[in-house]
Amino acid sequence: MSQTTDPPNGEADSPAAAARDGRAVSTLVVGAGIGGLLAAITAAERDPGGRVVVLDPHPPGGRARCDHRGGFLFNRGPRGLYVDGPADRALTGVGVDTTQGGPPQLDRGALALLGGRTHRFPSGPAASLRTTLLTARQKLEVARAMAALWRADTASTDGRSLSAWLDELGVDGVPRQFIEALVRVATYAHAPDTFAAGPALANARAGTRPGVRYLDGGWQSLVDQLVAIAARRGVEIVVSTVQRIDPTGGSIRVEAEGTTWSAANVVVAAGGPDAAAALLPARPDSWDRLAPPVTAACLELGIRGVPAHRFLLGIDEPLYGSTHAPPADLAPEGHSVVHLMRYQPPGDEQPASEQRDRLREVATLMGISAGAIVEERFLARMVVAGTLPHPDTGGLAGRPPVTIAEHPGVLLVGDWVGPTGLLLDAVAASATEAGRLAAERSATMVTA
Ligand SMILES: Cc1cc2nc3c(=O)[nH]c(=O)nc-3n(C[C@H](O)[C@H](O)[C@H](O)COP(=O)(O)OP(=O)(O)OC[C@H]3O[C@@H](n4cnc5c(N)ncnc54)[C@H](O)[C@@H]3O)c2cc1C
Repeated sequence: MSQTTDPPNGEADSPAAAARDGRAVSTLVVGAGIGGLLAAITAAERDPGGRVVVLDPHPPGGRARCDHRGGFLFNRGPRGLYVDGPADRALTGVGVDTTQGGPPQLDRGALALLGGRTHRFPSGPAASLRTTLLTARQKLEVARAMAALWRADTASTDGRSLSAWLDELGVDGVPRQFIEALVRVATYAHAPDTFAAGPALANARAGTRPGVRYLDGGWQSLVDQLVAIAARRGVEIVVSTVQRIDPTGGSIRVEAEGTTWSAANVVVAAGGPDAAAALLPARPDSWDRLAPPVTAACLELGIRGVPAHRFLLGIDEPLYGSTHAPPADLAPEGHSVVHLMRYQPPGDEQPASEQRDRLREVATLMGISAGAIVEERFLARMVVAGTLPHPDTGGLAGRPPVTIAEHPGVLLVGDWVGPTGLLLDAVAASATEAGRLAAERSATMVTA
């Protein structure tokens, strides 16, 4: 088993004392969201002799936890796993079954909302021909823009915003709004002027094909499987809040609710840059250039029956509605779970009550009557991602890396970290990398 080096002092909370009373670990993970759990499992798998401990004051899962409401299972806002994306591959790689569930039901009366009026959503060739959303000329424009979207070199478009990319393409009016809406639904971000084109277009492609899967049992099913796999790997999950990380000595001291841990590596998977910075001695300067978090208002409905229109996408308003159960198993027999969402632009000031009212109107447009609603929950401002890849900082390349140069052994995980993907894809990619680096480092630490 790898151990941390002893510093030359004899304090009660020194690494030597920590080792004596069981508070010395190879890898300590802050946060038991999907990122923290995945990093812990990866570290434990690759350093089987090491000790891996995860600290979190809440039940595991973080933003991926689900809540039971009167027989319905609500993800905390809509959740779709990108099929075969980085998160899907990482989860499958550690033994999680991600295959149970189904795709969004775009072929069942899907709608597009423009100028307050609904139209058939152009989800396939037949619907595209028949929709009144676009004129014949606009349909050709959208086809041209979609072809460009599939052709785009997403790595070399990072220095441009989505708006700049659309300007260069010369696409305007409703076709432009349509492409922006496709990007929105695939990224959860409503910020075309400040969103790097590369990741925006890459996710719009992935969202179209192979698309996303709504999971049976919600994302709680991922969390429950990860917790079981972590236990089999010997990972310990401890209920505790981390207050401070001191990486200045030979080993890293972690203060957590009366206990001081000593660790060779600390993985910070606490959710976002502010949560991570609060634990470090100082906020790294480069983080000040990060774009603000991406947020959304969510309305969750448990209803009797199934909506006549199972999907709705706002074209000139940042609105979304989708029936997650069916296809996923989240509702009692004869009932459905519908998620509605308003993608909030940066600096959004619309009052929460107005957002909720508008989302209720979207539900009505989908054919959901007030009398059919059995359970309802509104979440006014959910943080979807800790930052948005900004064109001025090089897009994905401008996000903080997993390692922090001034603090060897402190590793970052999250949807705001590293050069790969958005949302859970970024979480999983950074978690796998952090787990791998932690295992490598702990295996090479000097044995006391
Ligand atoms: C409404 C909504 C919809 C989304 N939809 C999708 C989607 O469709 N597809 C997709 O890929 N992604 C989606 N996401 C994003 C995805 O849910 C998140 O990226 C992911 O769950 C974040 O995981 P994480 O482990 O990095 O952080 P979190 O889940 O935030 O976990 C962080 C954990 O750290 C703990 N913690 C914080 N501070 C401390 C401390 N000091 N000490 C100990 N523990 C601490 C917290 O309690 C928490 O459990 C969505 C997010 C939202 C909000």
